[in-house]
Amino acid sequence: MSDRIVILGGGLAGIAAAISLVDAGCPVTLIETRKRLGGRATSFVDPRTGAVLDNCQHVVLGCCTNLLDLYQRLEVLDQIQWHRTLYWTDGKQEADANGTDRFEANWLPAPLHLGKSLRQMKIFNRVEKRQIRRGMLRMLRLGIRRRAAWEGKTFRQFLDEAGQSPEVIDRFWNPIVVSACNLEVDAVGAPHALQVFQEGFLGNRFSYAMGLSCVPLVELYGTVEQHLQQGGGEIQLGVSAKSINFDGHRVTGVVTTEGLIEAKAVISTLPFDRLDKIISEPLRRADARLHHLDQFDVSPILGVHLVFDQEVMSLPHLVFAGGDVHWIFNKGMDGTGQQHIHAVISGADQWMGLDEASIVKRVLAAISSALPAVKSAQLLVHRSVKEKRATFAATPEINAYRPGPGPSALGGAPNLYLAGDWSASGWPATMEGATRSGYAAARLAGGTIEEVPDISISWPARLLGLR
Ligand SMILES: Cc1cc2nc3c(=O)[nH]c(=O)nc-3n(C[C@H](O)[C@H](O)[C@H](O)COP(=O)(O)OP(=O)(O)OC[C@H]3O[C@@H](n4cnc5c(N)ncnc54)[C@H](O)[C@@H]3O)c2cc1C
Repeated sequence: MSDRIVILGGGLAGIAAAISLVDAGCPVTLIETRKRLGGRATSFVDPRTGAVLDNCQHVVLGCCTNLLDLYQRLEVLDQIQWHRTLYWTDGKQEADANGTDRFEANWLPAPLHLGKSLRQMKIFNRVEKRQIRRGMLRMLRLGIRRRAAWEGKTFRQFLDEAGQSPEVIDRFWNPIVVSACNLEVDAVGAPHALQVFQEGFLGNRFSYAMGLSCVPLVELYGTVEQHLQQGGGEIQLGVSAKSINFDGHRVTGVVTTEGLIEAKAVISTLPFDRLDKIISEPLRRADARLHHLDQFDVSPILGVHLVFDQEVMSLPHLVFAGGDVHWIFNKGMDGTGQQHIHAVISGADQWMGLDEASIVKRVLAAISSALPAVKSAQLLVHRSVKEKRATFAATPEINAYRPGPGPSALGGAPNLYLAGDWSASGWPATMEGATRSGYAAARLAGGTIEEVPDISISWPARLLGLR
């Protein structure tokens, strides 16, 4: 019998699983259908210009401990640039370093660290700020363990109960939630959104800090192949898994476009719809984790790359409080004075039917009051990237269907492990969720990377109930 573990998918979940297993001395084969690693968090060469572009800006937060652990193992942690100031605009005035609202920690411990900057924000009035503070306090008091009581309900229901007005919901809670969970407050399950605020903003001074890669995302995975080879593993790029062999009790290997690979165990990190396509009916029937793959829905994200002939934005990024566009990122100037801006619209269902010209027009209209130079600058290049199946939809019902990494008490192939951002990672569809799930699946399959501790909750936050 083969002693090989086959990992399906070379996104972050697959990379995390592979690194964990080779570090434990297990021979692994990683199968990736595309010619590059990174899955949804990667880059592509724009055929129009030859430029290497990220499929979308990817943000890591300070609380993403597993992803940061993986970056460290890949020796790319120093490629992440940290931003401890989040710039907010209502999109009505020109945005610059002096006049624009700054969301940043002062010297106080969490959850008091952001209090001063909230107090100083000009885009919310006193009543709105009081509401926001009340909402945050409610989340602290609820605690981490008791947010499960909100399973099955939307975050809008939580906010209504917490006395938040429609304006505050639209301009404060929604921009954060839609960016983090890729669904609007009306549709997203309350526990997903509560987690963002409890762990991302309230628990620790560093949790909210935003990390952006200084290099194209694909370069973050440049050391993976060598790392695997040194540990006796291999990567097969441009090879697709077609089916998982199952003998009625255990999985025995994977049929790929290049032939059969026998396996001691298989870790699937494929998205739910891809996994659904390669499992046989006997395997599906035998494994309770595979019974509900049809319950998952998807939510799209739109990224728009814009290159102007001159500088149009001096800040590193901007969060829009309400409006069509959620975030814009300053991707820098080149040697000739051209500037690259990237706009992101999450939960972008309404944009998917638009052609690129209409998308660009709408984005320019949404950002031009905050960045008036856009009106006079020449737009040299535009490229919109529609990710229709960007993430699973983090609805109130979905946690009940997200499978764990190993077989459940209801049965399952004992040597088939499941991972991917849609599995029961305890996180929304994020790079952190994917990495956690990959590590967890690898631990069950023999990997040695121990559970990476969550970011610690500060004592004042614990005192206020965040446990
Ligand atoms: C536009 C966009 C913006 C995002 N922004 C952020 C962000 O700012 N911050 C954040 O944390 N997260 C963000 N995410 C989410 C994040 O990218 C994903 O949660 C994460 O990358 C998922 O990793 P994964 O390994 O679970 O899945 P994937 O990355 O989808 O990896 C699965 C891999 O399996 C491969 N595959 C599929 N079928 C087969 C087959 N039959 N055989 C072999 N291989 C196969 C695929 O090619 C893919 O590489 C964003 C996602 C998108 C789409």
